[in-house]
Amino acid sequence: VIVAFILIPFKSEMRQEKNSIIGDEYRWPKTIPYYLEDSLEINAKGVILKAFEQYRLKTCIDYKPWTGEKNYISVFKGSGCFSSIGNRRIGKQQLSIGANCDRIATIEHEFLHALGFWHEQSRADRDDYVEIIWNEISQGKEHNFNKYSDKQSSSLNVAYDYTSVMHYSKTAFQNGTNPTIVTQIPEFMNVIGQRMEFSDSDLLKLNRLYNCSSSLTFMEHCSFEKENICGMIQGSDDNADWQHVMKANGGPDTDHTNMGTCQGTGYFMHFSTAEGSVGSKSYLESRTLYPKRNYQCLQFFYYNSGNENDELNIHVREYSDTESNGTLKGFGQIKGKPQNYWQFYQFNLKASNKFRVVFEGIKGAGVSQGGLSIDDINLSETECPHHIWHIKNFTHLLATSSPGTSGKIYSPRFHSKEGYSFQIGLYLNGTTTNPGNLAIYFHLTSGDNDGNLAWPCPWKQGTMLLLDQNPDIRHQMSNQRSVSTDPNKKTDGGYFWDNPSQVGNKVTDEDGNTFFRGPGEGTSSFLTHERLRSRNFINEDSVIFLLTVEGKQYTLGRGESLQLCKKNVCENDGICVELDMKPTCRCAVGEDWWYFGERCETKGRKEDTVITAVVSSVVVFAVMLVITIISTCCLTKKYKKKSKHQGMILENDHHFLY
Ligand SMILES: [Zn+2]
Repeated sequence: VIVAFILIPFKSEMRQEKNSIIGDEYRWPKTIPYYLEDSLEINAKGVILKAFEQYRLKTCIDYKPWTGEKNYISVFKGSGCFSSIGNRRIGKQQLSIGANCDRIATIEHEFLHALGFWHEQSRADRDDYVEIIWNEISQGKEHNFNKYSDKQSSSLNVAYDYTSVMHYSKTAFQNGTNPTIVTQIPEFMNVIGQRMEFSDSDLLKLNRLYNCSSSLTFMEHCSFEKENICGMIQGSDDNADWQHVMKANGGPDTDHTNMGTCQGTGYFMHFSTAEGSVGSKSYLESRTLYPKRNYQCLQFFYYNSGNENDELNIHVREYSDTESNGTLKGFGQIKGKPQNYWQFYQFNLKASNKFRVVFEGIKGAGVSQGGLSIDDINLSETECPHHIWHIKNFTHLLATSSPGTSGKIYSPRFHSKEGYSFQIGLYLNGTTTNPGNLAIYFHLTSGDNDGNLAWPCPWKQGTMLLLDQNPDIRHQMSNQRSVSTDPNKKTDGGYFWDNPSQVGNKVTDEDGNTFFRGPGEGTSSFLTHERLRSRNFINEDSVIFLLTVEGKQYTLGRGESLQLCKKNVCENDGICVELDMKPTCRCAVGEDWWYFGERCETKGRKEDTVITAVVSSVVVFAVMLVITIISTCCLTKKYKKKSKHQGMILENDHHFLY
């Protein structure tokens, strides 16, 4: 990736204005009203909503659709990614998520600007940590390396952070091939410029600036390192106990958190099935928790060294006024052959009252040399990713693969909730044009449900996340990329996202089954090997990808409500949007049906006639495209005029991609 950044200078304003982030007038309320403009790419809209979820998980900042509040952030597709610094109190404050800005860390970065942060290398003390190589900077771009004094900007008593998501990379604005930023500590040369996730210091600063004491969706984390085991308790109506151990007979020999690397630490919980009678059970229950959202994702690592008939059941014990002992509700079960490694599991829970999470171990029939173990639990009020791809012996794979398609491996085939079959392709050593990087691609594959699905596949968003196996979800810096299936995208001989049996290649999997694999969309620069080896991306010589495919909502301007639209009623779940100062309906589209008409009053169906369906959807998308183009132009013009008038300070990041 070549990442470059441009700061648009509004010279006179910059000197006159008190443009520092110091000052309460630049703060937003903790819940920020936002509006997603129609001009945004559909994939970008989905990623923006994911970025908001990271803010909700790791900070006290929340976002809500604008409903007429005085000041709000209007997110639109401008040329590049940019934002002003802090709350300018100008009503509609624009933030651009342009082409190639649809990555979660880029969006987090822009919103950090809006929340009041300059780049990390603009800090008053930056010369102690980096050297700016002025003669390597493209002419006219020097202002991007401005420094702001400690009267203008505060570092909030947090040390300089080379790993900040707000730091430029060494290649920013270079006029040749030499770096423009050299780190005083050489080891950080390839660390600066990360765009994976918030760093711990980014979060510390944001949480200090906004006096955060808790987050909206985080609930609990436990790596069992402390003797109080995070307030977890042994159940009373059972006949065995979970043990707090560093090693279990029969395995595992180490915990998952530290993998035996730290002496004197490294605990996990173990339920032995080597003794006791069949059916004996043991409950491990979390402290009481109080939900806000009524849905939760439980993630943890599990090790089975017992017998394949042993079970781990996941329950929620939910309390109500009439049930003071709580009621147990089951949300999942793990059963299967013992494995000699830590496996990653996740379960969606639904608790709407005070509750505990309950791990129930049950000894099954048969001989056991070991038992069941759990470690590194995280619970948050989020939706779990849908699928897990666990790749073992990863360093061996990396060492023995060559760049290009011969080094490309594929995930198993998974099904989306609506029935689309898909697969992830991973170039371990990069593509031939971009070696040394993980490259990742999302492919549709043929499946049993294909006859019942809409083709070309309309606007499904596939998200591919490489898990940072840091035990605490709040400190994880996972790397992810999303792609959306644009039903109008063309490929040789048809539509890119059409039925894979039409546009794909016939392939044979390891079990000898044949199927069709469609073309893939993704990136050749998912993650450099250097970053891959950092943090906890590889743990126990495994990497874990979490995959999600989400639905139709991105065709609609989700979460948008407008003044003009208050009078306009769209029918059948159509959403009202403002277009040229007129309310306009965006109608709902399903797998094999769609609404049309001024108020979405008429329903069309695939069965009506296939030809009509194809023609209509093409027309609908063509119209959408025209609308997008027009509104982008209009916005750009308006924006230019306004920004001069308002004297905004703009900071512009252009991210170019190869
Ligand atoms: Zn920036």
